[in-house]
Amino acid sequence: MEEQIRQMYKELGISEKVFSFCKKTEDSLQERFTEIDRVAEYNQCKVIAAMQKNKLSDIHFAATTGYGYNDLGRDTLEAVYADVFRTEAALVRPQLTCGTHALTVALAANLRPGDEILSPVGKPYDTLEGVIGIQPSKGSLTEYGITYSQVDLLPDGRFDWEGIRMAIGPQTKLVTIQRSKGYQTRPTLSVEAIGVLIAFIRTIKPDVICMVDNCYGEFVETIEPTEVGADLCVGSLIKNPGGGLAPIGGYIVGKEEYVEQCAFRLTAPGLGKEVGATLGLNQTLFQGLFLAPTVVAGALKGAIFAANIYEALGFSVIPNGSEPRYDIIQAVTLGSAEAVIAFCKGIQAAAPVDSHVTPEPWAMPGYHSDVIMAAGAFIQGSSIELSADGPIEPPYAVYFQGGLTWYHAKLGIMMSVQKLAEEGFVLQSES
Ligand SMILES: *Cc1c(COP(=O)(O)O)cnc(C)c1O
Repeated sequence: MEEQIRQMYKELGISEKVFSFCKKTEDSLQERFTEIDRVAEYNQCKVIAAMQKNKLSDIHFAATTGYGYNDLGRDTLEAVYADVFRTEAALVRPQLTCGTHALTVALAANLRPGDEILSPVGKPYDTLEGVIGIQPSKGSLTEYGITYSQVDLLPDGRFDWEGIRMAIGPQTKLVTIQRSKGYQTRPTLSVEAIGVLIAFIRTIKPDVICMVDNCYGEFVETIEPTEVGADLCVGSLIKNPGGGLAPIGGYIVGKEEYVEQCAFRLTAPGLGKEVGATLGLNQTLFQGLFLAPTVVAGALKGAIFAANIYEALGFSVIPNGSEPRYDIIQAVTLGSAEAVIAFCKGIQAAAPVDSHVTPEPWAMPGYHSDVIMAAGAFIQGSSIELSADGPIEPPYAVYFQGGLTWYHAKLGIMMSVQKLAEEGFVLQSES
């Protein structure tokens, strides 16, 4: 069997040298992989329990059209999400077009002119800069009289407790906490760390709304931020919780009063959750959620494998090969635009879809610099599927995530090493 597998990788374009190098790393990771499988097992049970409790049935897979009144599937999906995240309420909709949109709805719904947003974890995700108005932008929250303040993490990645205390004022209405590092090189926050931060903020201002941008964090741990005090948790269905099957959508879970505001903002005051046809998507959204824990486990194995491979090749990686994981993103600092491009070509070449196309750097809406994106995805732009993004700017880091199966993630990483080797960046010695 071992020989057959080796032969198959050769047919896919992986050299003997790259194969042997990667195999050594994989063999050293079995203990970590077992731990990941245990978390997936727990989360799988959590999801099944929520589906059973809400008596999920095939009647919930029926399509609604038009206004979408009495969409039992939609209401049950929201009840299941609320149970999985241990919250009072959920808004899970195909009409939430992406993560940025879900975050925009959550912010705009719960803020009024004169209110202030505080980010105590540094600059938020690039697209949120336009939403909030950190970068002047048409329709931003700034245009509606909402202000923003920010406290950066300390250079060693810890919270700036004193800075946060000083930044909370009478206007502070909502604190936004981004769990994942996104396109930054700061550490991703554990759910436990988010809980400590929220508890601290509540000692200063008990009634402030604590919102967590949960993108890429779902099912990585056995608890979610809503279990440690977050009032709202927001994410995208074409990332972790969609399990690779959801073709569109976002979710907002949390306290009833805040989620209700979101529904009124997403549809219309007075209509709220009552409208929003699901057009036959419910079955896919349920099935994606069902698969999400094991899909996330595969993506996590891929991230850890990549960290160990690239560390062994001498690159700086965040997180490093041995530290605990709180999201599925792996950053690798490759040091040059050419190496970033070669890496992304490898990811693309390993894809089931569009493996024959060559990714190139491009100006993307919402991003500062040109970005190269590699993805051969079944769902366009899905980043729970194997994908890599590299902003073409120093330090020339590539952000790698996803993989619907561990085997595909593994092939993608091996292929990235193959492309870097072919262009003379790695594995050049004769040993
Ligand atoms: C992906 C992401 C978003 C935005 O989601 P989109 O679906 O791309 O709009 C926001 N915050 C974080 C941390 C993300 O990773």
